[in-house]
Amino acid sequence: MNTKICSGCKRELPNTAEYFYRCRTYEDGLFTRCKVCSAASDRAWRRRRKGRIIRLRIKAKREGYRRSRIGELIGLPKLHQN
Ligand SMILES: [Zn+2]
Repeated sequence: MNTKICSGCKRELPNTAEYFYRCRTYEDGLFTRCKVCSAASDRAWRRRRKGRIIRLRIKAKREGYRRSRIGELIGLPKLHQN
């Protein structure tokens, strides 16, 4: 059986769709990280992203520009107050 080493946890696993998500852009058609690592990094990414948006909202509110949602997200320079 062919095996593949996960780039995340470095475990040697059978290179089948049972252990790796399919991904057409890769040579062997399977993702470089196993399903366990893929799920973990996906969760971490979502958590980071959520935390970042919340921080930006708090900052925007504190600095007095809450009108523009885009401004909150990209952190526009401070607008003139009143
Ligand atoms: Zn892994």
